Amino acid sequence: MEKIRMTTPLVEMDGDEMTRIIWKMIKEELLLPFVDLKTEYYDLGLKMRDETRDQITKDAAMANKKYGVGVKCATITPNKQRVEEYNLHEMWKSPNGTIRSILDGTVFRAPITIDSIKPVVKNWKKPITIARHAYGDVYKGVEIRVPGKGKAELIFTGEDGEILKETVCDFECPGVLQAMHNKDTSIRSFAHSCFKYAIDTKQDLWFSTKDTISKKYDQNFKLIFQEIFEKEYKARFDELGITYFYTLIDDAVARVIRSEGGYIWACKNYDGDVMSDMVSTAFGSLAMMTSVLCSPDGKFEYEAAHGTVTRHYYRYLKGEETSTNPMATIYAWSGALKKRGELDGLEELVAFGNKLEEACIDTLNDGIMTKDLVNLAEGIEARAVNTIDFIRSVRERLEKKLEA
Ligand code: NAP
Ligand code: MG
Repeated sequence: MEKIRMTTPLVEMDGDEMTRIIWKMIKEELLLPFVDLKTEYYDLGLKMRDETRDQITKDAAMANKKYGVGVKCATITPNKQRVEEYNLHEMWKSPNGTIRSILDGTVFRAPITIDSIKPVVKNWKKPITIARHAYGDVYKGVEIRVPGKGKAELIFTGEDGEILKETVCDFECPGVLQAMHNKDTSIRSFAHSCFKYAIDTKQDLWFSTKDTISKKYDQNFKLIFQEIFEKEYKARFDELGITYFYTLIDDAVARVIRSEGGYIWACKNYDGDVMSDMVSTAFGSLAMMTSVLCSPDGKFEYEAAHGTVTRHYYRYLKGEETSTNPMATIYAWSGALKKRGELDGLEELVAFGNKLEEACIDTLNDGIMTKDLVNLAEGIEARAVNTIDFIRSVRERLEKKLEA
């Protein structure tokens, strides 16, 4: 069989620990035999990040910006313990944070669903995608522990010296104080990414904030979304028969639980943090979650939502067999290949990505699963296999599909 052609390289960002091992298996078993794989390779493994003083992460992000599509393996975000373990020069920043700030994107997370793993919410029939704004609010907040009596004020001093001032509270006792911010540029990027992703995936877009209470802050989000929608996206939404729908966050929560799924739920930074954990847990497992960073100028970075699965890696190093679920990492590759194919007009590459995903789903439906899923499966006879056997089972099914 002739290998499937690619024209533009994918930006390939390798990572750490168990996911680095899985990365190699996926390439050897599921990609290289079938695709004439073109990638520009960046090793974001912690060792190389340290050796290059993290320049490699910035280079990878810039390459992702240049070529448009990247695929990233999970990476270690160093903490104090990792600094000792890897003898690092510095506690390097989270690579995801670095890439996110260079691409200026929004993170979209969607569960991979199969019939035998039922969501905890029984009326959910289709996946719910969370779009999380990844800048500002409480994550960039500043705080004061108020020691006692006194007056708290919020002050803005303009470049021209103009002063805006609000009294926050006249404290008659100790308390706490917090200030947070966001920027119109970032909110606009967030809105564009959400509308574009909705068009791309032909799904309705929901957006929720608490603008009835937060009359300036959250209201600003609501107005920016509304303005951008009316001006730039409404016509295309109408053509595709999809809708944009704004509601209060508490109303959204109630509607999400009663819904069938099948839409994108855009959330402010904190809401997205909390709600994506709720949604992914209710759908089954973090290892069955896809994650893609989309920038407003149409750049995409595909990754798994989980980390480097350290506990399994230490077992692997001891020579023990591991049953780590490679689904999210396989889907990062299939997602990136499909997007590359779409941008370059390579139908065969798009078809390959779809077949790879179908082969994964068929494998699971045949009851061949990693340990994390076996306990969740209902109504089928499921057996637990190790990672490489799972990948080989996917390969068998993929080969049949490619021959057909
Ligand atoms: P983790 O790697 O997601 O793993 C936490 C636990 O979840 C695992 O011990 C395992 O549970 C289960 N799990 C996660 N992925 C799985 C998979 N594919 N198959 C089977 N089980 C899976 O999170 P962590 O242990 O908190 O973090 C490890 C490292 O990853 C850290 O250094 C962190 O900085 C990094 N991290 C990176 C990213 C990223 O690059 N996107 C995201 C998060 C964390 P059991 O042990 O019970 O089987
Ligand atoms: Mg969280």
